[in-house]
Amino acid sequence: MNLILFGPPGAGKGTQAQRIQQKYGARQLSTGDMLRSECESGSDLGQMLKSILDAGQLVPDEVMVKLVAYAIQDDACAEGFILDGFPRTLGQAEALDEMLREIGRAIDHAIILEVDDGILLDRIRNRAAQTGGARSDDNAETLKKRLEVYHKQTKPVLPFYEKKGILRRIDGMAPMDDVTSQIDAVLGKKAAA
Ligand code: AMP
Repeated sequence: MNLILFGPPGAGKGTQAQRIQQKYGARQLSTGDMLRSECESGSDLGQMLKSILDAGQLVPDEVMVKLVAYAIQDDACAEGFILDGFPRTLGQAEALDEMLREIGRAIDHAIILEVDDGILLDRIRNRAAQTGGARSDDNAETLKKRLEVYHKQTKPVLPFYEKKGILRRIDGMAPMDDVTSQIDAVLGKKAAA
């Protein structure tokens, strides 16, 4: 089972992706986590990436497409994958489509966790408090930019999947467990006991 999770920053994609991974065996591929671990390595590439992440901007499509192409073909994704944070532009979506076609795979469901902008700042502040400020982009100023980028560049990707008939809209403002149940309903399996 191959999935995409869409949603604005703070929508709960990471939490839900982890739950799906545990339940269904598909592997979570968080592009944000991949980029952050490169940033932490302190390499030249990592430093360049950190400045992009801290500005709330997007890493160029060519870099992202290569990163994801490599990850998807890893044995860990043999039972499927959950893309958490990718694609974020139409160019990435088109490249993903072509890449999957070449390897004889396809996206089964694209799920969007819909959350109003107004409550995201509180969620990001909570995450920053819970993680001791682990993410340097979890602050009000960068969130504003990340949201702007989400609306301008990522939301226009949704019709691409809507046209394929695989886009599912979920109320991401419901309590976390209810969001999980809504996802289970889409994936057609009962929640694990
Ligand atoms: P996330 O952890 O998904 O919120 O991503 C954190 C940051 O990593 C984003 O604000 C972007 O700077 C960068 N990033 C993650 N995924 C992508 C992507 N698919 N394309 C471009 N930049 C990305």
